[in-house]
Amino acid sequence: METTSCRCMCVVVCLFVAVLSVQAGSGSSWGYLDNEEGPNNWTAIYDECGGLQQSPIDIVTASVVAKDLGDFTLVGFGADDVPAGAVMTVSNNGHGVVVSMQGDYQVSGADLGPTAYKAVQFHFHWGSVNSRGSEHTVDGKAYAGELHIVCFNTKYADFNEALQNDDGLTVLGFFLDVQAEDNAALAPLFDAISMIQFENDEVPLSPTVVFKNIFPSDLSPFYRYSGSLTTPPCFEIVTWNVFSKPIMVSEAQLMTFRRQFANERNASANITLTDTFRPVQAVDSRTIFLNTASSASGLVASSSLVAMVIIKMLASVLDD
Ligand SMILES: [Zn+2]
Repeated sequence: METTSCRCMCVVVCLFVAVLSVQAGSGSSWGYLDNEEGPNNWTAIYDECGGLQQSPIDIVTASVVAKDLGDFTLVGFGADDVPAGAVMTVSNNGHGVVVSMQGDYQVSGADLGPTAYKAVQFHFHWGSVNSRGSEHTVDGKAYAGELHIVCFNTKYADFNEALQNDDGLTVLGFFLDVQAEDNAALAPLFDAISMIQFENDEVPLSPTVVFKNIFPSDLSPFYRYSGSLTTPPCFEIVTWNVFSKPIMVSEAQLMTFRRQFANERNASANITLTDTFRPVQAVDSRTIFLNTASSASGLVASSSLVAMVIIKMLASVLDD
């Protein structure tokens, strides 16, 4: 209850700050630059950013705990089940590139609990160079970027109600890694992003992204832990899924991100929007799980079966 009232307070304060910023014409109250609005100072306005279950984190592979979490069930993510009335809109919100989603995109299974989560938007984090840009890191290694698909728990009426609850959100996180060729399945998206360089710019995305065309073919290796929103107000309500296999994009496609600005179209000076990632936070006492692929356990079962057959054959040969 205390957390909830705290969050309500924070929402009120955030709204108040947002109103002040708009009045002062000073843009946003937080950002990624190393200044008074930067990640190290988010706690000045947003208490929860100083909590003990913050995201992102560095995933130390030697410390992860293997666990069979099962497979994801994804509805609306394939070419053959695009939701009726699916609409995506790409915008620059002054902090990054966000694609809002309308349509019944659902994520369940994978030990997420009895109710499905509904995907409502995805967005990106990126760096000014290929060696940084992702929010999560693995054994200290950063990728060139990270895609987050944000889903709210349908046990709550809507996204805003979900924000008030510890099991409110799950995020599917994918690293972006660099290859020579463009990722053709993402070409329409990057074309759209090149048209929304300034804060509050937005364009419809057509065709919409078919996620299964961009996801790595094997979704079973993923890390799972309890964390937070990686932007203010940093609520600790996110069940994180960070997939170990990256999505590949070209450097030219990454440049589309690096040409974004944090200011509106007609501002007197342009502020480049890059290195849009929060530094990793302390893991503290949390456990990071690695899903043990069900296909891998299938393999174990079949190799034991083969071994048993061989032993029986040997036994019968010896009997003879
Ligand atoms: Zn994010």
